Amino acid sequence: MPTLFAKIVRGEIPADIVYQDEHVTAFRDISPAAPVHVLIVPNKVIASVDGLEADDEALAGHLLLVAKRIAREQGVAESGYRLIVNTNRDAGQEVAHLHVHLLGGRPLGLLLAGGGAQEP
Ligand code: AMP
Repeated sequence: MPTLFAKIVRGEIPADIVYQDEHVTAFRDISPAAPVHVLIVPNKVIASVDGLEADDEALAGHLLLVAKRIAREQGVAESGYRLIVNTNRDAGQEVAHLHVHLLGGRPLGLLLAGGGAQEP
């Protein structure tokens, strides 16, 4: 089954794509949590960071460099931004296709909403 994001990569469902090359695609999050909220995904389906293989090393680095490029293009490189990669259940990963959230355009506050080292 193609993932939701694989369908966006292939242009089968609409998205506001801000960058695409042969390895990755970046598009605006449909439910933005900040003025700039872009998702950067590999074009091939990798379920999560936990699904990365040694052969994916260049791709994993490319995701970060594309994030840097988009941050500059979106005007948040200097003010600052946060990259988040939710992985599996406890992180709240909803879409099983590795994606980097790029968030910026306002002060982003604390890293985590709550919890700490204790169970919630
Ligand atoms: P995560 O919880 O890390 O798996 O994040 C999934 C993200 O995908 C959420 O921030 C959603 O708002 C976003 N999302 C879901 N469907 C779409 C879509 N069709 N286009 C863009 N973003 C989406």
